[in-house]
Amino acid sequence: MRQILNYIDGRLTPSAKGRVLDNVEPATGQVFSTLPNSDADDVNAAVLAAQRAFPAWNNSPPAERSRILLRIADLIDSNLDALALAESTDTGKPLSLAREVDIPRSASNFRFFATAILHTDSAMHETRDLEPDGITPRRAINYTLRSPRGVAGLISPWNLPLYLLSWKIAPALATGNTAVAKPSEMTPLTAFMLSELCVKAGLPAGVLNIVHGTGPGAGQPLVTHPHVPAISFTGGTSTGATLSAAAAPMFKRLSLELGGKNPSIIFDDADIDEALATTLNSSFRNQGQICLCASRVLVHKPIYAKFVERLTAATKALRIGDPFEPATQQGSLNSAAHLGKVAAAVDNARTLGAQVLCGGRKVPKDQLPPRCKEGYFYEPTILAGLDPACVTEQEEIFGPVISVTPFDDEAHALRLANGTRYGLATTLWTSNLSRAHRVAEQLESGIVWINCWMLRDLRTPFGGVKHSGVGREGGQEALRFFTEPKNVCIRL
Ligand code: NAD
Repeated sequence: MRQILNYIDGRLTPSAKGRVLDNVEPATGQVFSTLPNSDADDVNAAVLAAQRAFPAWNNSPPAERSRILLRIADLIDSNLDALALAESTDTGKPLSLAREVDIPRSASNFRFFATAILHTDSAMHETRDLEPDGITPRRAINYTLRSPRGVAGLISPWNLPLYLLSWKIAPALATGNTAVAKPSEMTPLTAFMLSELCVKAGLPAGVLNIVHGTGPGAGQPLVTHPHVPAISFTGGTSTGATLSAAAAPMFKRLSLELGGKNPSIIFDDADIDEALATTLNSSFRNQGQICLCASRVLVHKPIYAKFVERLTAATKALRIGDPFEPATQQGSLNSAAHLGKVAAAVDNARTLGAQVLCGGRKVPKDQLPPRCKEGYFYEPTILAGLDPACVTEQEEIFGPVISVTPFDDEAHALRLANGTRYGLATTLWTSNLSRAHRVAEQLESGIVWINCWMLRDLRTPFGGVKHSGVGREGGQEALRFFTEPKNVCIRL
C-alpha cells in the first residue's frame, strides 16, 4: 500500500507521532494508501522550517524563483499520466477530466505566477500641494514597496486537489513567501507527488512544506500559529466561518474562497443548443463537485418546458462508470460521507415537494462495473417544482443535483438568482447584448459568464461575494494578497 508522507524542511517524513489515516479510492470504496495524521507538532516543525527558509528565498532574485517554479511546471507536464491517474484514483473523477483539466491547469498555475513576477511594477504617487501658509509649494513623491508576508498557510479542498493547491502555492512562493500547505485529507496523493517533484526541481528546503492531516488536527494549528500571518483557504462556508473566528483576533490576512449556489439563467433569445450543451456540463462536470457548477437552472417561461425536456434527456444519457474508462462522463462522488449527504439532500427535497425528473438515487450495484461495486456513485439528478426559499434551493449540495425553475422576466430572474446567501458565479445565456450587460451589472456574484461557462483567464479576479468568500484570487489580486504594501514618502 502506498505511504503518503509529509514534506517538511525538504524531506519526506511520516508524522512525528507516526499516526496515519486511511485513504480510500472512492470509485471502489477500498483503502489504497495511508497519509500522516499530523498534529500541532508537525505543523510547528513545518512553520519553523518555513521561517528558516524565508530570508534566503525572499532575497533571491525573482528570476531565480521563476526558474525553479518553471521547472516544477515542466515536471508536472512530464508526469501528466501518473498525476492524472493519481488524481482520478483519489477523487473518483473521470481520468479524462484529470488529464484534460486538473493536471494541465496545475502546471499553468506555476507557469503563470513564475512569469508574472518577472513583469511586476510598483506604484508612485507624486504629491503637489501647498504648505500650511497656502502659498509655498509642497512637493513629495511616494512610492509603494511590496514585500512578502512571511510564512503563508495554504488550505485546500478535495474537489480539484492539485489544481486548487497549486493555485495557492504558486503565487505565495513566486512573491517570495515560504509556505505551509495543508491539502484535504480526502485527496492527499497529488500533493505528495508534488512534494517529490519539488525536491527534484531543486526547490530549497523549507520553502514549501506540505503537512497532511485532518482539519481540526493539522488545519486548525496552522490557522492559529502565531508565525503564520496570512491564510489562503478554499473550502466550505461553515469551515470558513470557523477559520475566520480563530484567525481574526490574531489580525491575520485571510483570503476565503467558499461555497456557492450558482444560478444559470437562460433567456428565450439564447442560442438554445449551445446553452443546453453547456448547461449539461456546468451542472454535472466532476459530478457537480466544482464550486463553479451551476446548481440552480433558471429558464425563461416560453422555453422552459422544451428546454427541461431536452436537458433531462441529455442528463439521462450521461455515461456513469469506472473513472478509468475513457468513455465515462460521470465518476464517483468523493467519499461515502459525501454520498450520504447528497442522497439525504435529495430525499429531503422530495419531502419538500420536489418532482424528480431524473436520477434521485444511488447507482444500483448491478449497474456498476465489477471493480466499482462498492464505489460512491449517484445518478445525475434534476429536481423541479421547489419553493425558491426552501433549503434545497438555498443551500449548497455540491453533487450531481440541480433544480430547474421557470422565470417570467428579467426582474424575476434577478430576484431568483440573487435570492440566496451565496454569490460566487453566475452563467447567463442571451443573444441580447444590452440585456447581458444590464443583468450582469445587477447580479450579486463575483463572476459572471455570458454565453459560456468556466472560461478562465488566470489574470482575472476570482472569488465570490456574500457568503461565498472574502477577497479574490488570480492575477494581480493574488500577487497583492501575498504581499504587504508599504508607502515611502519623500519630501522634495
Ligand atoms: P471543507 O471546508 O470541509 O475542507 C476544506 C479544507 O479545510 C480541508 O483541507 C480541511 O481539512 C480543512 N479544514 C477543515 N476544518 C478546518 C479547521 N477547523 N481549520 C482549518 N482547516 C480546516 O471543504 P471540502 O468539503 O473539502 O470542500 C468542498 C467545499 O469547498 C464546498 O463548499 C465548495 O463549494 C468549496 N469550494 C470552493 C471553491 C471556491 O473557489 N470558492 C473552490 C472549490 C471548493
